[in-house]
Amino acid sequence: MSSVLNIPIINYHKISDQSDIGITSRKPRDFQNDLTVLVDLGYQTITFRDLALERSLPPKPVILTFDDGYQSVLENAYPLMEKFGFKGVVYMPTDFIGKTNDWDVQFAGMRFGHLSQDDLRFLHRQGFEIGSHGCSHRSLTDMKLDEARKELETSKAKLEAILSDTVYSISYPFGRFNIPVLQFAKKSGYRFGVTAIFFRAGQWNGYNPLALRRLNIYRMDSRKAVELKLRKQFHSFFAYRDWLIQKGSLATVLWQKWFRTK
Ligand SMILES: [Zn+2]
Repeated sequence: MSSVLNIPIINYHKISDQSDIGITSRKPRDFQNDLTVLVDLGYQTITFRDLALERSLPPKPVILTFDDGYQSVLENAYPLMEKFGFKGVVYMPTDFIGKTNDWDVQFAGMRFGHLSQDDLRFLHRQGFEIGSHGCSHRSLTDMKLDEARKELETSKAKLEAILSDTVYSISYPFGRFNIPVLQFAKKSGYRFGVTAIFFRAGQWNGYNPLALRRLNIYRMDSRKAVELKLRKQFHSFFAYRDWLIQKGSLATVLWQKWFRTK
């Protein structure tokens, strides 16, 4: 069986022509190109649910994840993926189901809609996996441990009630985790957890199924860059650039920490 640690996991946020101040929104046309690169390289999508249920896997599995549960996943990504027979994993911060984003400082003044309960049920019926992205989209390592435990448990229970199904995986907000968070995630019944850590050449993932590495594809990534990333010829330029981008998301964490009391 191919180990989960060797399966490439690609992360997206919004799939939209609408540009935001951040760079995580990928244009639908570029996203479609990414899908053709995956097909050309022989990849087929699976979900963590498939792994948890020990379903038989295709020879070259890949996992496509979408953080933050934006409506653009349903509107723009899903129709393209359906054409290719692809499915993905959507990570939803449960406090924002059916609402707009007001948690992300990067998009100050810009509002993007989140998926509704019905949207989540629809995607789930189409074979997509719906995973937790916490409740409030705050960093789990920058709050009291008891609060972090509640976020892990409550978000899981809420999604399970909506979907009438087990939730198997979590994407830690801002990719931030530590040992206690991993332990609580495991205790709460999560089987897989994804982070925002870029990978180094020849190493896709970490060694813990609750702290898996992901490859981010950003707005400006060319077809060549996507191919390089997927072929694991991860040029140090991309590694360094993506690391800087991850550092950039720290600004949001600090903003939440200092200016928001909850
Ligand atoms: Zn997020």
